Amino acid sequence: MIQLTGKAYQSCVEVLQILTNAGFEAYIVGGAVRDAMLGLPVSDFDLASSAKPQEVMDLFQKVIPTGIDHGTVTVMHRAFSYEVTTFRTDASYTDFRHPNAVSYLGSIEEDLARRDFTMNSMALSLDGTLIDLYGGQEDIKNGLIRTVGNPLERFQEDALRMIRAVRFQSTLDFSLDKQTEEALKKQADLLKYVAVERIQAEFSKLLAGKGVQQALITLIEANVHHILPGIQQIEKSFDEVPFLVNLSTEVELWAWLASTTEDPKRFLKRWRLSNRFIKEVDHLLENARSAQAKGWNKVTVYTALPEVKPCERLLSVFEKRLPVIKNVERITSELPITSSTMLAVTGEDLIQWREISAGPWVGEALRELELAVINEEIKNEKSSIRRWLKQWQTQ
Ligand code: ATP
Ligand code: MG
Repeated sequence: MIQLTGKAYQSCVEVLQILTNAGFEAYIVGGAVRDAMLGLPVSDFDLASSAKPQEVMDLFQKVIPTGIDHGTVTVMHRAFSYEVTTFRTDASYTDFRHPNAVSYLGSIEEDLARRDFTMNSMALSLDGTLIDLYGGQEDIKNGLIRTVGNPLERFQEDALRMIRAVRFQSTLDFSLDKQTEEALKKQADLLKYVAVERIQAEFSKLLAGKGVQQALITLIEANVHHILPGIQQIEKSFDEVPFLVNLSTEVELWAWLASTTEDPKRFLKRWRLSNRFIKEVDHLLENARSAQAKGWNKVTVYTALPEVKPCERLLSVFEKRLPVIKNVERITSELPITSSTMLAVTGEDLIQWREISAGPWVGEALRELELAVINEEIKNEKSSIRRWLKQWQTQ
């Protein structure tokens, strides 16, 4: 019933074989089993095994101790990598986010019991046997997200699971089981104990999901939008949400989310996004807003390069329509230059011709020249530019 094929799976089978031949138990667990059951392509295989991290390291040539404190090592096998986690039982939790201690004396049953949702707590063995102790298969059939065990307790142990529930609601277009949703509404406050970086990673996936609208409604109904940084006003932009499917990248999605706030840069900083990321979002927002005001023309397209397609996608969300990539592609192809480095002259040329020493005028002249070339008022060749410069002088 579970159909797994492909090179990553073939190689995964070999990893399982090596572990079982050495006398350990080993299973495919988590998202891979869930996605295979849903008929989705699986490229990421997480394994759970009775082998301890050191024992896994001894069995394979290339192993990276990625999360060795949590019993996770990454095995590189053929062209693929696999996270192998030792069966574990988490001891008590006290701060809503960190297990206090991890013990390696666990079994596959205990390992599955500590996982978040029934759909994520199934294991598949080498011979194709499915271990499904919590009705994951049934819940997947019904499109339901249900915690393993009492949702109130599971959300107290790790409050991030509440955001994960809603992100899976979005990415899988599933519904929340009633009790799970009730627990979220009751305990959303606990999210304030979770590091914003962890929430951010889940939130990116939530924004990219096909069920994003329903997921955002869930967040609002549970009042989560008053706990997460800067999204209290999100309801005002709700009519744009159905168009988020137009967006392709994380930068575009966060640009949209930032656009719903008064101070996009500050908003992104509060979400602990990197300066580089914030700069990219800023460029996108600025150019999409400018195209919104002036329409796409040679100058707005030129200024938005090389991000003109992402800008058009973002603009299509603001304008609640489909993106028309062909239009910006056509304008780009008609541009005489696509960057200032393609100008036939440099600042040095201008200084020589004008016989005036360097100063702010050089940058000013180059900018005007760039616009004149883009608008095809002058040709991008030395002689035309020299003539243009003479006239510029007299202005
Ligand atoms: P995706 O395909 O989006 O990566 P995934 O199910 O693989 O989905 P991960 O975040 O990669 O999600 O986590 C892998 C597995 O680890 C999950 O399927 C789940 O079994 C378990 N898991 C992850 N986070 C938690 C958590 N906070 N609490 C309990 N179990 C978790
Ligand atoms: Mg995963």
